[in-house]
Amino acid sequence: MLEETGIPEAGKVEASLPSQERLEQGPVAVFECFTEIPCDPCYYSCPIEAIAEFHDINDLPELDFEKCTGCGQCISNCPGLAIFVLDYNYREEKGVVRVPYEYSPLPEEGEIVQALDRTGEVVGEARVERVQNAEKQDRTAVIWLAVPKEQVLTVRNFERMED
Ligand code: SF4
Ligand code: SF4
Repeated sequence: MLEETGIPEAGKVEASLPSQERLEQGPVAVFECFTEIPCDPCYYSCPIEAIAEFHDINDLPELDFEKCTGCGQCISNCPGLAIFVLDYNYREEKGVVRVPYEYSPLPEEGEIVQALDRTGEVVGEARVERVQNAEKQDRTAVIWLAVPKEQVLTVRNFERMED
C-alpha cells in the first residue's frame, strides 16, 4: 500500500507510536519511516543517541522513546520528512504536533490552518504556535501546530486557508 499510495498501513503506523503513558510524560519524537532506503542522517542528528546505531545504511530507525527528550533536532535532518514531535501536554486542552515543512511562503505564528491527516484529509483546524526556520535547518522549517489532544496521533500536515 505504501509503495502505491504513499500512505502507510495502519498497523505500521500504530507500531511506530509511543504509548499513551509516554505521550503524557512530555514531548517525544515519532519516526514514520517505513521503507528501507540508504539513509541515516537521523541517527547522526540526535545529540543523545536516542536512535539505535544503524548496522546497515538501509536499516529502519529505531527510537528509544524513554531516552528521547523531544528536542526536535532530528526533524529538519530527515530528507524523507518522516519525523514529527508530539507534545501531548502543551496546553490544558491542546497538544502540539511539530511537522517538517518545505513550502513557501511559510505560515505565520498565530495563523489558523487546516489540519491534515496522513492521507491528506482535512480533520479540523490547527493554530500555528511557532515557526522554526534557522539557517542550520537548511530550508526545512518546523511548524508547531496546536490541535485538540485527541488529534495528536492523527495530524501530520497542514494546508493554509484560501485567501
Ligand atoms: S527529538 Fe531530539 S532526542 Fe528525540 S530522537 Fe530527535 S534529536 Fe534525538
Ligand atoms: S533520516 Fe528520515 S528517511 Fe532517513 S532513515 Fe532517518 S527517519 Fe528515515
